[in-house]
Amino acid sequence: MKPSPEEQLVFLSKLQRLFSEGDFTATYKFALLIALADLAVELGNDSGEPLELGHRGIAAKFIELYWQQSAPYSTGRSGTSQDVLVQNSGTQAAVITAIVEFRQNNLAATAQSARLLPSYQALILKVGQTVSAQPINYLQNLGGGTDPFLYERVRGAIILKRGVAYCLRRFQPLVQQLARSRWVGHVKRNKLNSPRLGEADDLESFLFETPRQALTIIGAGLKKLTSSHCFYCGTTVHDADVDHFVPFSMYPRDLMHNFVLAHPACNRSKSDTLAALPHLERWLEFITRHDDALNEIGETAGRISDRSSCRSVAQWGYSNAISSGGQAWIKSNSYESVNQAYVDCLG
Ligand SMILES: [Zn+2]
Repeated sequence: MKPSPEEQLVFLSKLQRLFSEGDFTATYKFALLIALADLAVELGNDSGEPLELGHRGIAAKFIELYWQQSAPYSTGRSGTSQDVLVQNSGTQAAVITAIVEFRQNNLAATAQSARLLPSYQALILKVGQTVSAQPINYLQNLGGGTDPFLYERVRGAIILKRGVAYCLRRFQPLVQQLARSRWVGHVKRNKLNSPRLGEADDLESFLFETPRQALTIIGAGLKKLTSSHCFYCGTTVHDADVDHFVPFSMYPRDLMHNFVLAHPACNRSKSDTLAALPHLERWLEFITRHDDALNEIGETAGRISDRSSCRSVAQWGYSNAISSGGQAWIKSNSYESVNQAYVDCLG
């Protein structure tokens, strides 16, 4: 059932066509592509089977993606104003307006804590309707026609076609990077944003990355939790870095359970590689034992906190490493090949 290498190439070239020929009046289609790739990693598997994704689940991803972006953006430079960035040509995107209104009327620091409020149901419904009527409807329109190569629609959901979840999992970092860079370009090109942007050059980090103050909160929380011990070498650390356990280059999304405390030297040495088996086993134990505390730190720092998604991401990362002959970092200048034992311990 897995797509052949030829089918995977066809998938990639269609995806590329979608980016170059698709008509993007709002940034929704980028959000939808990122949402589909994320959901394929979190809910799908490598069997090649079709995967059903409900509108509600996709709407929840949209809220997560646009949450940070629905805060006012400020360059801090004179001559620019501080306001929410516009993500549709001509007028603000309805999803942003809905989130801005929700945030004005509800006390919720994060998209995740918002989920606990009764009024969140109305927000999901509203965003779900927009997502269904717009990007889900139009994403597969290319060069004047329709090529439904990604999904078909059923009531309240879409079904990713055979091989699509597989390809989205396989090429998730590529989909993320393509969608993000086009997304940033879209926001920059929108004339309505010029009073807000000026010559701003940190747009991508505002739209997608963990704010610096959030990292400070996470670092302080992890220090308390671990009595200031480096996750990798186990010795005491003073000026600690916050490291992405599954590298950010591999999965550019900040999940709270993916953060560990590390010496800057250990962090630099590990760099963009996956961690070796003893680290992986320790990490699994760590996120299980400290699940509640990590959720609490995530809540304070405004980061998504979901242990089971984070585990799925790790499983996906290590499985991909096996199929591409990836290496895992043991310690400075010491590596081994990722093998089946890694995936077994995540199973
Ligand atoms: Zn260390």
